[in-house]
Amino acid sequence: MAGDCIFCKIISGQVKAEFVHEDDEIVAFKDIHPQAPVHLLIVPKKHIPTINALEEEDAPLVGKMAIVAKTLSKKFGINESGYRLIFNVERGGGQLVFHIHLHLVGGWKNVKK
Ligand code: 5GP
Repeated sequence: MAGDCIFCKIISGQVKAEFVHEDDEIVAFKDIHPQAPVHLLIVPKKHIPTINALEEEDAPLVGKMAIVAKTLSKKFGINESGYRLIFNVERGGGQLVFHIHLHLVGGWKNVKK
């Protein structure tokens, strides 16, 4: 846990969020400023500041984040219509919160087939 990290505070319950998943290693909650009809954040409980700080030992954790994303895409009814999974990395890549998180966005209507 990093003292001033907003996502660590959400994970510990100090700051409220609308949780959609929790297990021993990962939580997921709704983004406070959704950019799509479905916009969820999949977040490891371990405080890792950026994708650039990942170690080899974190590989299973990151893989599990993708599995949680897939499961949530089904729960939110966007698995078949499709969705985007996004890691923003460092400030130049649009990262604002320095605790890694996978954006799951989708649910747009009128998608061309
Ligand atoms: P980033 O730009 O770091 O990839 O994305 C951070 C995301 O976290 C943004 O989409 C932002 O809306 C979301 N966010 C920031 N603070 C909070 C918060 O306190 N609660 C929730 N639910 N989402 C947050």
